[in-house]
Amino acid sequence: MSIEGKTVIVTGAGKGIGRATAQLLVERGVRVVALTRSAEDVEALRQDLGCVAIKVDLADAVATREAAIAALPADFLINCAGTTELQSFLDTSVEAFDHLMAVNTRAPMIVAQEYARSLIREGRKGAIVNVSSVASFVGIPDHAAYCASKSGLDGLTRVMARELAPHGIRVNGVHPTVTLTPMAVKAWSDPDKAAGMLNRIPVGRFVEPVEVATAILFLLSDDAAMINGISMPIDGGLMIS
Ligand code: NDP
Repeated sequence: MSIEGKTVIVTGAGKGIGRATAQLLVERGVRVVALTRSAEDVEALRQDLGCVAIKVDLADAVATREAAIAALPADFLINCAGTTELQSFLDTSVEAFDHLMAVNTRAPMIVAQEYARSLIREGRKGAIVNVSSVASFVGIPDHAAYCASKSGLDGLTRVMARELAPHGIRVNGVHPTVTLTPMAVKAWSDPDKAAGMLNRIPVGRFVEPVEVATAILFLLSDDAAMINGISMPIDGGLMIS
């Protein structure tokens, strides 16, 4: 890996996949700048991992841009923060839809804009990983707004990959299936629903957060120098079943 000594912005580093990624990065000698919401998580990231941690609500576009600028300069960006709301399509509210689009789709765009602008200004190369989901490939009942927000993020990933690569900035997406984090507990607490999903994953288990973190670090590294614009499932073979 070629990221030792670098600075990496991680959104949503307070919990789950973001927290596991921040921890792995710190273990690899990386300086982590975390953007996350809860004050307790900000404090824990500072105390436990030695991160620079910025408290921000990524649903707020103005605050998100200010936080992104405050996080610079950085070598790499991981857009990991995300949220979900379980509602059937017919019951999906405009408020929930707008909130998920703001956090899951618009915030990654804003943070990536500021990150990429600063690299282009300084003539430096970099890489971005957007944390999407298998939910962007398939229709999961009760996840209409979530699926739409992650498919929107994939569209951004592909356009960014084309527009930013000439500037030396690669952009890729990772697409985990159910990963054992607080968000997954919220969405998959029903044992019948969990069993149905597990039966469709050939390796027979859900994903560990560190397994997503490991794939993200690979995509950031020079080992992935020719990988740009991909959507990488991290799903134990779910998508080919
Ligand atoms: P968690 O709920 O465990 O963690 C999400 C993190 O994002 C938290 O630190 C949370 O902070 C932060 N966050 C959420 N909303 C905001 C906001 N408005 N402003 C700032 N920070 C915010 O989620 P996961 O680790 O499970 O998910 C991480 C990413 O992986 C998400 O993008 C998710 O969609 C994706 N994913 C997750 C899967 C899973 O099964 N877990 C599967 C596929 C994709 P706070 O708690 O303070 O709100």
